[in-house]
Order: sequence, then C-alpha cells, then structure tokens
Amino acid sequence: MKLGIYVHIPFCRQKCLYCDFPSFTTDSQLYSTYITALCREATGRSGIFSHAVVDTVFIGGGTPTLLSQDLLNQILSCLRENYRLSDEVEITIEANPGTVDRAKLQTLQAQGVNRISFGVQTFAERLLPQIGRIHSAAEAARAVELAQAAGFDNINVDLMYGLPEQTVQDLQESIDRAIGMGVRHLSVYGLKIEEGTPFASLHEQGRLALPEEEIEEAMYELAVHYLPARGFRRYEISNYAPAGWECRHNLKYWHYQPYLGLGLAAHSFFDGQRLANTVDLQRYIDFFSGTGGEKQEFPVAVVEKLDRETAMAEFAFLALRTSNGVHILEFNTCFAADFFSQYNKVITALRRQELIEVTEKNVRLTELGMKYGNVVFGAFLPDT
Ligand code: SF4
Repeated sequence: MKLGIYVHIPFCRQKCLYCDFPSFTTDSQLYSTYITALCREATGRSGIFSHAVVDTVFIGGGTPTLLSQDLLNQILSCLRENYRLSDEVEITIEANPGTVDRAKLQTLQAQGVNRISFGVQTFAERLLPQIGRIHSAAEAARAVELAQAAGFDNINVDLMYGLPEQTVQDLQESIDRAIGMGVRHLSVYGLKIEEGTPFASLHEQGRLALPEEEIEEAMYELAVHYLPARGFRRYEISNYAPAGWECRHNLKYWHYQPYLGLGLAAHSFFDGQRLANTVDLQRYIDFFSGTGGEKQEFPVAVVEKLDRETAMAEFAFLALRTSNGVHILEFNTCFAADFFSQYNKVITALRRQELIEVTEKNVRLTELGMKYGNVVFGAFLPDT
C-alpha cells in the first residue's frame, strides 16, 4: 500500500486576519513539547502501517518553518525511523517567507525535503500588512531566491484574489512575478470571510473594502485563463502547474488514496474511515505526556466509517475537483458498481446545466462547472 503522511504544525508568529486554520501564536517554548508529542503519535501509529510505502509527506500548518532546525530534523528523523519512505518520496514543507533563512533551507534540503510551498498571497506591497502577513513582498521574493539557491526546484507559491483593495492588475503582477522567478506551481485561492476571524468582524461592521463582485469575477477569470496560457495547466480547481510538477500529496486527497494525519487537528483517511485528531492543543500535549488520563489509544475527536453511498459520493466529488475528473473504470472497479447507473439522474441534470461533460473514460467538470464546483459536489451527496 502507498501512503501519504500529513504533519500539522499549529504555530504562527502572528495570525493573518482572514485565517481560521488551527494555528496559535504561543510561546516558542511550547514548540519542543509539541514536537515530542507529535513524534510519540508518529511512533505509536506506525505499527499498522508497517507494510505501507510512504511516497508523500506534507508538513503543513500553521507555519512549520517557525520551528528550529533541530525540531524540523527531529520530525523528519522520526518519520524515517518509523515509516518506510520511498526512494522517490515527495516531501513538502509549507513556509512563511518571514521565517526562512539560508541555513534553514539548506538543512531542509539536506534532510530530503524536496518541495517547498510559500504562503505569499500577494506581491502587492501595500496589501500585505492589511491582511496581517508578517513579510514584505521583497522578503517573499528573497525567500524564493534563497530556496532556489539552496537547491529547491519544486517551489509553489500561494496567491489570493478578492483581497480588500486588490485590483485585477495587482493579481496579474503577482502572477507575473511568481512565474518570472521560475516557480513550478501556483495555488490561487479566492478570499473567503470565515466566521470568527478579524476579517469577519470588520466585514460585519462594513469596514472591509472588498472588491466589487465584477472585479472579483475578473480576477477569477484572469487566473483561469492567464495561467494556462503561460504553461500552468489548471489541474485542480485552485491549482496550476506545468505537466509533471503537480503536488503528488494533494493529488492523493482528490484521488481517494490513503493518508495519515499526525498532529493537532490532523485528518486521516484509511481503511474506509475518516479520522480527525482533537483541536485542543493542551489535550493533545497532555495525551502524549500521559497526564491526560484518557483511555483512548490516540487523541481522536472524530471517527467516521464511510457507508457505501457516502464513500461513492466522496470518490466522485473529490475526483471532480481535478481537471481529469472521475475515471469511470476506477470508480467501477473500486465499488463493483456502474458509475452511470449509480448517478444517472445527477449526471443527466448536470450535463443539461453544462456543468459536467462525459468523455470516453472520464466524467469531468466543464469550465462552468469548475466555477460552480460546489453545486456539482452537492448534487452527488446521498441526501440530495
Ligand atoms: S501564516 Fe498561514 S496558518 Fe498562519 S495565520 Fe497566516 S494563513 Fe493562517
């Protein structure tokens, strides 16, 4: 069995104003306590995966590069000691441009990390402080250059559109700048106002200068046409890369392949079930220091055994996020079922709305379907 491993590092120097990810701005003394707990979880869970070959690792957050080189080494050594990492393993680390230097990047390279994903969001200098980022545009560009100098050729840059006061030209200049630096992958996300964030309060008070709907739409259109015209294929709704540079780890999520999540709030999918670890940092740490007094084997908050209908629906709508869509034969083999019989009504309705198209081997989203993906995904859910 091939397995992906996700490792969650829930620390950030400062919370971005739009972010609702599980990450905290705690005292850095807690970092090593957390990594000790994380390594205990990694060790404890390894038994049932002794037969698995790990071909992707994704260290995400939060801001993994806030950790010292020693702590990053500790995580990577722990994974290598407890899991069978493939010779061709893809190891990605998420990095905030304000938290890397030459030495840290060189250490990561030496430890086998071969892909780096920078959360830049925009190269428009005036917008960065307004969204709570800790780095300047120049620092973001410098971080990419340092990573390249350290030997990273597989570099992603995350960009956002729909930011307050952002223009279409801002987005185009950010895309041009990233491509001009030779990055191999771009993730382009629209801003969502998430409940409980500072942006949500500002929005409620009418103090967030979000772009007009047509401007936001123009930004979306720019991304989906401008990038492919420059060799960056849209291989998933928000992800673009030249052929061969797609993120193999993220493809696992969309291709219904097993992955193990380690750390606070980390999600796993294996043996037909989805698991989610606790989002309570103290509980997570206490659990592995033996002071939590819990009877469970791991600090899991959610276990969901997927019934057949849900499993089929998930397979379908996750695959539909990708440009290739659902591979019919794979679906039929996986579930000993016929995709067209199973979703006859849904397929007919979505084709009529021109949201999906059927090719010889696949069913996939049309360009319109990519824009209104949530309508399509909802249609596959068992209760719709
Ligand atoms: S750096 Fe990333 S995880 Fe941390 S607050 Fe900002 S967006 Fe959220």
